[in-house]
Amino acid sequence: MTKNANQIVVIGAGIVGVSTAIWLRRAGRDVILVDKGAVGMGTSYGNGGILAACGVAPVTAPGLGAKGPKLLLDPNFPLFLRWSYLPKLLPWLMKYLSHANEPDTRRISKGLAGIVADSVEQHKSLVNGTSAEGWITDSDYCFAYKDQTAFAGDALTFELRQQAGFVPEIIKGGAVHDYEPALGPDIGLLAVMKDHGYIRNPAGYVQALAQVLVAEGGEIRQAEVIDIDLTDGKISAVITDQGRIDCAGAVLATGVWSKPLAKKLGLNVPLESERGYHVVFKDPSIHLNATYMIASGKFVATPMDAGLRCAGIVEFGGLTAGPSKAPLAFLHKHVKLNFPTLKYSGVEEWHGHRPAPTDSLPLIGEIAGSGVFAGFGHHHIGLTGGPKTGRLIADLITQKGTNIDLSAYDPGRFA
Ligand SMILES: Cc1cc2nc3c(=O)[nH]c(=O)nc-3n(C[C@H](O)[C@H](O)[C@H](O)COP(=O)(O)OP(=O)(O)OC[C@H]3O[C@@H](n4cnc5c(N)ncnc54)[C@H](O)[C@@H]3O)c2cc1C
Repeated sequence: MTKNANQIVVIGAGIVGVSTAIWLRRAGRDVILVDKGAVGMGTSYGNGGILAACGVAPVTAPGLGAKGPKLLLDPNFPLFLRWSYLPKLLPWLMKYLSHANEPDTRRISKGLAGIVADSVEQHKSLVNGTSAEGWITDSDYCFAYKDQTAFAGDALTFELRQQAGFVPEIIKGGAVHDYEPALGPDIGLLAVMKDHGYIRNPAGYVQALAQVLVAEGGEIRQAEVIDIDLTDGKISAVITDQGRIDCAGAVLATGVWSKPLAKKLGLNVPLESERGYHVVFKDPSIHLNATYMIASGKFVATPMDAGLRCAGIVEFGGLTAGPSKAPLAFLHKHVKLNFPTLKYSGVEEWHGHRPAPTDSLPLIGEIAGSGVFAGFGHHHIGLTGGPKTGRLIADLITQKGTNIDLSAYDPGRFA
């Protein structure tokens, strides 16, 4: 097969990959989107669905290094570790915790803002006029606290949000339950962020976007990419378990599974799975008026088509172990505490893998002049920032130029 100078292979059909593929197609490229599994069934399947435009604070808050061990042992804190995984985790964990200081938190926050702050507009621009319109619901995004003291504990986070342009409206006391009757009596303060949104079925949305890609002339193949063929340092093909695909460029949108392919291109990315969980409560007796982050349990609650989805938890335990019981029990307990009248007909329980580089910033950009572009490592904000990432990568590949400084996302920092 001769090399098609216009052909780009996008590897990975999660929210980042489908968004990138669509923007590349719209820029006139021949696009093949390749996934080893079904479209939208990686981490993009099970997230909380929130377009968290104000999601600019990394998990590595100042002081986490000192508090971490205590939090791991605290049954009321949503941080879990499969202890047998600790030796493997340790080098990554040390680097990760080295960012838990104020200067790094502020720097990371600026980087995250560049990807997430205009999320709702980016999603709407991706779907505008297509069959994938209609999956996005405009909504407030509310941070729910016990009281003013608990809210004050997150002062730095709200300062960072304010710097990114998001100032909450505060609702207190009885007004909280006028705003959201389903919340339990333990919630006494809501910090309401206007102009946010959510996706009512994240996997369905990614699959609908894949159909948009095909309708616009792109192609989708199911195959596992096992190697990248370079000639004089430039990509000439991706090698899959189904054969070779000649191409002029490729995008690694392979989420938490990106490490081996990145390594072939000379990157040693400290990438871990931040395991997370969701429970969907089917036929719920309550319907929320907005989306919520319940601060005490650090989970989000989103009214989805399939029911009320509660999602969150950070667990370290690698990519291969099955779900653990304790995080799911924690989630169930905290949902009951915060939505005490909730009744339902059944549940879906799921665990997935947030792609977590140690510095909490995604990798976006060309890898060592190879014609292969990174688009992975989106931690907690991949659904939010996927379409923007896709547009930026398409602009880089087509040399259109971007209007933001991309140095914070440079994959070369892990060369
Ligand atoms: C519990 C939980 C709640 C979350 N809530 C939110 C939220 O509310 N809002 C938000 O913005 N984010 C949220 N996230 C984070 C978000 O889900 C992720 O950041 C995002 O889904 C990552 O998307 P992706 O496209 O990079 O990866 P994925 O969706 O994982 O897609 C990667 C794809 O690459 C494919 N692949 C991998 N390797 C290969 C290979 N070698 N060959 C071919 N294919 C390959 C995989 O099969 C997969 O389909 C949450 C995550 C979790 C776990």
